[in-house]
Amino acid sequence: MSIKREELSVPGYEKVTYCEDASSGLRAIISIHSTALGAACGGIRLLPYTSREEALTDVSRLSKGMSYKSAVAGINFGGGKSVILCDPAKKTPAMFQAFGEFVESLEGRYIAAQDMNITAIDLQEVRKKTRHVLGVEGQPGTSGDPSPVTARGVLRALEATAKQLGTARGLDGIRIAIQGLGSVGYALAEMAYDAGAELFVSDISPQVVERAVDDLAAEPLEGDAIYEVECDIFSPNARGAILNQTTIPRLKCKAVCGAANNQLATDEDAMRLQERGILYAPDYVANAGGIINIFVEHEGYSQAKAFERTDRIRDTLTTIFDRARTEKVPPSVIADRMAEERIRAGR
Ligand code: NAD
Repeated sequence: MSIKREELSVPGYEKVTYCEDASSGLRAIISIHSTALGAACGGIRLLPYTSREEALTDVSRLSKGMSYKSAVAGINFGGGKSVILCDPAKKTPAMFQAFGEFVESLEGRYIAAQDMNITAIDLQEVRKKTRHVLGVEGQPGTSGDPSPVTARGVLRALEATAKQLGTARGLDGIRIAIQGLGSVGYALAEMAYDAGAELFVSDISPQVVERAVDDLAAEPLEGDAIYEVECDIFSPNARGAILNQTTIPRLKCKAVCGAANNQLATDEDAMRLQERGILYAPDYVANAGGIINIFVEHEGYSQAKAFERTDRIRDTLTTIFDRARTEKVPPSVIADRMAEERIRAGR
């Protein structure tokens, strides 16, 4: 293989490398934001980026986000991420093997995992060339699909959020509006229903909504109606940037807490929520169950350990809410500060 490598200079990042392999057609960037707390772990995202700059912007933002997520979750992972610049229809096993060699060349500073447009089969190809890959489904001792553990963590975050709203009854009788009933959202809906919550649901797939109506006594909502439903907690579990200058004025919830990544369209949206008196559970705190699950695999997988560590999200979020109230800033600001404090101390 004829791998060509180029170090990219990104201020504040430990190591960002672009790699091209002529024989397989691989074009990829691995971004290591920080290894202050441990190996930089983060998923591989495969997308048809229109330029190398666009891919670099995405991987930089995502790898820094992983540093913060792991730091606040209290696990000893740094932050990293990788992107493969490719049309998903054109990916090949040779490309993933070349990517595996690229990962191997970093000698464990970066640990790869699954992300957008990457299947378990793709990861198995990566694994042929490097040990530094986690969450390979179907392999003995691996942690498998992280979604149920992510959902469990969001449930704990919902409990912490409900408590701040003044309920002494856990989720019993709490009205939760769930946007997105996919791998995480549906599992979350089931657990919230079992805990006595009243559910409103929306998804672009009518079948999954029907299932929630039949099995979880959920009230279905069409299109954008989820933003305006009167409820205690709005739980975004579909896509990012749904908290923005258009949606925030419409919200009739008391709090927001869900798994979707990058829920705030901009930093100002944290302030917009605060001004409306809506409590926001920072997304990367609530959805850390997936990375915690992978970290437990790194140490030697046990589901009980993954659950126990994920359950700590409830206390972490409570600390964040308490500090936010005392310091009179949005909870997302406190989460970032806590991450930065831990990363600094790690160094
Ligand atoms: P998924 O693709 O399985 O589910 C997403 C669901 O949202 C689908 O059912 C889809 O039909 C629905 N959807 C899409 N657009 C919608 C819209 N406009 N309105 C309502 N529903 C819509 O994804 P997932 O794995 O469940 O992840 C959900 C979110 O949580 C994503 O933002 C993901 O990045 C984040 N997340 C997931 C994990 C994990 O372990 N899977 C971990 C951390 C964060």
